[in-house]
Amino acid sequence: LSPHQSHLERYAELAIRIGLNLQPGQVLYIGSASTPVPVELAPFARLLVSKAYDAGARRVFVQFQDEQISRMTMERAAEEALAEFPLHLARMYEEAADNGAAFLVVYAPNPDLMQGVDPKRLTTAARASQKALVRFSGKLSNMDFNWALISAPTDGWAAKVYPGLPSGERTEALWRDILYTVRADNGDPVAAWQEHLDLLRERARYLNERRFRRLHYRAPGTDLSLELADAHLWLGGENDTPGGITFVPNLPTEEVFSVPRRDGVNGTVRATMPLNYNGRLIEDIELRFEGGRIVDYKASSGYETLKGLIETDDGSHYLGEVALVPVDSPIARLNRLFYNTLFDENAACHLAIGRAYPPCLEGGTAMSKEELLRHGLNDSITHVDFMIGSADLEIDGETANGERVPVFRAGKWAF
Ligand code: ZN
Ligand code: ZN
Repeated sequence: LSPHQSHLERYAELAIRIGLNLQPGQVLYIGSASTPVPVELAPFARLLVSKAYDAGARRVFVQFQDEQISRMTMERAAEEALAEFPLHLARMYEEAADNGAAFLVVYAPNPDLMQGVDPKRLTTAARASQKALVRFSGKLSNMDFNWALISAPTDGWAAKVYPGLPSGERTEALWRDILYTVRADNGDPVAAWQEHLDLLRERARYLNERRFRRLHYRAPGTDLSLELADAHLWLGGENDTPGGITFVPNLPTEEVFSVPRRDGVNGTVRATMPLNYNGRLIEDIELRFEGGRIVDYKASSGYETLKGLIETDDGSHYLGEVALVPVDSPIARLNRLFYNTLFDENAACHLAIGRAYPPCLEGGTAMSKEELLRHGLNDSITHVDFMIGSADLEIDGETANGERVPVFRAGKWAF
């Protein structure tokens, strides 16, 4: 495996106990239908499986895929085949969710994997998988079951983050970063997480008490007014399933997040980090909004990929998430671009194109799609975060009586 075996064990245990809060007797799926575990991470997957059985898992299933085979599929499979996602796979995950299983995804996409592959083919395949998995993704967004997203370094990804290091040292360096960001590298990680979750809960509570009607963003290239849904809730760190399992869906996590009104976003916003999406990098994203809708977009590279994302469906022209992360978060302090949204989104304020999280609305998890829409929540088959935070970012909150209160100054919490 690697020299710091004991840290890896702690991390695997955190993923199972704090991330998933796996219940005795629960079935666990590691790797999802759309995000299988890269085969080179098999040693780490074994550790996860072992910790899951320690926690009383009834049975653990692991879905692997080899990166090079994924690339071959995108290059060489028949075009019509890419438009058809295997429905039996989608059904398997839906059925498992209905039967009370937990899901753990090891998210480690290689940012350069699909370089040179026709973006249209990638878009076709992504859309097919999002469509086939729409019911499963809806239950996941609704926090109907306990799930968690974690990560682990592959050689391809580590090469992108640490191009200057000798090839034998890159994966180790990225492991060190990951273990640091998930607080598994020293002391008592469970205690560190309890403290961290308390802090996120405090931030969310403060914002929920203020009941801001709008947020105003200012930064170079950004001048954006974003209306929050009326009965919005700020969440951070933990979530609860309807059955009462408290879990932490992202490890690491530094954000507090809520829902914009679908039709209430106006102005321009410039991304502050490249976005690794669908095996390609999109750089220098700029979006212009009118009445919530993206009416114009630019990128210095990866434009076709950005277009594929925004043109996914009607809902992918609107925002579904607003998240606040200060530039002095532990991940941001590393000052490193990870090319992996799980890490980059926890180093910077971000917004998400696409589906909103119903738990961010009072009573939202029990509402139908139509009711959620009426409350201003966006729906789409996709949900993709892009980062807009920087040390130049200022955010004001506008209260119901029009008063403006500083929320972020110089990229950090203003209170
Ligand atoms: Zn987020
Ligand atoms: Zn998101």
